[in-house]
Amino acid sequence: MLRCPECGNGAVFNGYLRFRDTCAVCGANFKAADAGDGPAVFVILVVGAIVAPLLIILQVGLNLADWLALTITMVTAIVLCIAFLPPFKSTLFALQWKHKAREATHEDVE
Ligand SMILES: [Zn+2]
Repeated sequence: MLRCPECGNGAVFNGYLRFRDTCAVCGANFKAADAGDGPAVFVILVVGAIVAPLLIILQVGLNLADWLALTITMVTAIVLCIAFLPPFKSTLFALQWKHKAREATHEDVE
């Protein structure tokens, strides 16, 4: 994860979520890298599945005050989203790379 899909060694990101232009190890060209909205969709689904039960447990199970349960849930959601975005984005990019995914052209339908 977070490594070049071609060689498995070079870092795929330059910073938090910005793709490098090329792999520093093998020189693979990442300029066409575009995972679009995909990573955010999967992160929303996974984080939502974690924090929704958490909120119910905190409010109903532990009987915490609403403001405290909501604060814990929101902080957890933000931290998980920040933590999950890079691995999800690099994984979707690696899948696009492996399957040579790209935008459809007129040549594809002929
Ligand atoms: Zn590489």
